[in-house]
Amino acid sequence: MNRRQLLLGAGPLALCAESGDSPVEVPVVCLTNAFAATKPEAVRAFQAGVWREAVRTFADCGVHLRVTERAGEILKYPSWRPRFVGLERGQVNVVLTDTIPMDWDHGRQLAGGSTVYEGYVVCVISMKLARGFGLPLLAMNTVVHELLHVFLGDVFEPRGGRVRRYGREARVDWEATRMWLGADAAAVRAAARAHLLRMQKLR
Ligand SMILES: [Zn+2]
Repeated sequence: MNRRQLLLGAGPLALCAESGDSPVEVPVVCLTNAFAATKPEAVRAFQAGVWREAVRTFADCGVHLRVTERAGEILKYPSWRPRFVGLERGQVNVVLTDTIPMDWDHGRQLAGGSTVYEGYVVCVISMKLARGFGLPLLAMNTVVHELLHVFLGDVFEPRGGRVRRYGREARVDWEATRMWLGADAAAVRAAARAHLLRMQKLR
């Protein structure tokens, strides 16, 4: 019996079936920054740890990530703003790198960030700072957290004030914790379906 079954008395797939809606398949373009200063063993550890946990957690909740891997680059414009190479329009692009571009990070040592940038939906993940699930509501899987910001449509909303930003973070962490614990993730599947419709409009 795994942690979820222990806590909730039922497997996540059973819960998905009970909710009456079908699984969703979401294409994800995964690009590894060719210029990332990340050692091969750190990349392997990220893939076997945080990344695998994220894919499995979504799958357990009925959201199957269909991942296409390709090479990518994060360059800089003369203004020092990041310039991403290899992104695909109308898809969620997950860019794996060593550190989040300074423009987005502002010295906060972020593990991840998501936004719509130059018309592309982008999540940037720091392979060295990303973490897996730890404590409920406190330590989220970074990839799950960032993809939820995209699926829930947060990246399309104006940044807003502190209260609004806090509300978005709390909602994402709440849904991520529910996913991790194997609670019914109907809201996440509905968000994934809404995301697919939004992506169609962006193409
Ligand atoms: Zn967040």
